[in-house]
Amino acid sequence: MIVRAPADFVAAVVRPEIRALSAYAVARADGMIKLDAMESPFPLPEALRAKIGAAVAAVPVNRYPDGGATAVKSALRAALGLPDSLGLILGNGSDELIQIITSALAKPGATMLSPAPSFVMYRRNALYAGMRFADVALAPGFALDMPAMLAAIERERPALIFLAYPNNPTGNLFATADIEQILLATPGLVVVDEAYYAFADASFLPRVAEFPNLVVLRTVSKIGMAGLRLGYAVATPEWTAELDKVRQPYNLNALTQAVAPILIAERSLLAEQAALLKAERSRLNAALAALAGVVTFRTQTNFVLARVPDAPRWHGALRNAGILVKSLHAEHPLLEHCLRITVGAPAENDALIAALRTIH
Ligand code: PMP
Repeated sequence: MIVRAPADFVAAVVRPEIRALSAYAVARADGMIKLDAMESPFPLPEALRAKIGAAVAAVPVNRYPDGGATAVKSALRAALGLPDSLGLILGNGSDELIQIITSALAKPGATMLSPAPSFVMYRRNALYAGMRFADVALAPGFALDMPAMLAAIERERPALIFLAYPNNPTGNLFATADIEQILLATPGLVVVDEAYYAFADASFLPRVAEFPNLVVLRTVSKIGMAGLRLGYAVATPEWTAELDKVRQPYNLNALTQAVAPILIAERSLLAEQAALLKAERSRLNAALAALAGVVTFRTQTNFVLARVPDAPRWHGALRNAGILVKSLHAEHPLLEHCLRITVGAPAENDALIAALRTIH
């Protein structure tokens, strides 16, 4: 009798490019100061917890959630001042929207284009969907290399371009004129991913109606709701109608739908928190820049980026001090010896600065 092991079946039927992949690694952070994943450091105020508790208690969890997520959509439309003439689609995190957009556009032979380094999930989703992926290295200083981008657009004729604005992991905003030029030059869709909009000086959201091939993608993850898993995309209704066909019918669970509108309505609280994080970002940058051999980069995100003398060693020393940050050292040549550090609460940043000063 031939013994057939699971691995034999896996080898026979799982796509080779999936077998070659490692699952997305999420670092464990039990008991540590967690400055690696761009979360908000602020717990919910007590009064809001009570309000959310009551809302959650009233959710009929025996029923499917509202497939149209109408309460969340109304809350977002009100908070953003979004006109009814624009389409809105929600995702289980903006990660899901990246997947939805990619799978809708992944015709056989179609290409996704993105600058590098940028958010790793673009490339991964191209792979999931069987889409070709091309990247264009950023210029030194992390601006878009426009001659190279335009040449790549001409050569690849991409169906889909992802631009993180501000970019992760470099933290900078690309030049407005460069993005406009890309929108005009490309034959396909341009997704401007504004995950960090709350900490940035500019946005393409007010300009969605101006461009027939623009989707603005956002998330509430960086402004205090990472655990809810809620992202949204705004585009002309022609786009959102197509994307909605790829969305799973109940992609936003009932608990998220009950809680998100309450938090989204807390606009002054969210604005205060973002302002505090921006002030802390300046303080962190100043402290980092004062360290011998450290170079800091200007970011418009809730993280700072610094080139240190020895990133693996500094990463390890911080970990030993109970602080988790992200080393980008191996990710891209432009990020040699770079650490990405999420801006924490003031006391967490104090601990970080104290630990940094002990590293030599
Ligand atoms: N886009 C960018 C640029 C990001 O940095 C992230 C989170 N790291 C996301 C999208 C995904 O965010 P979420 O799925 O939590 O909405």
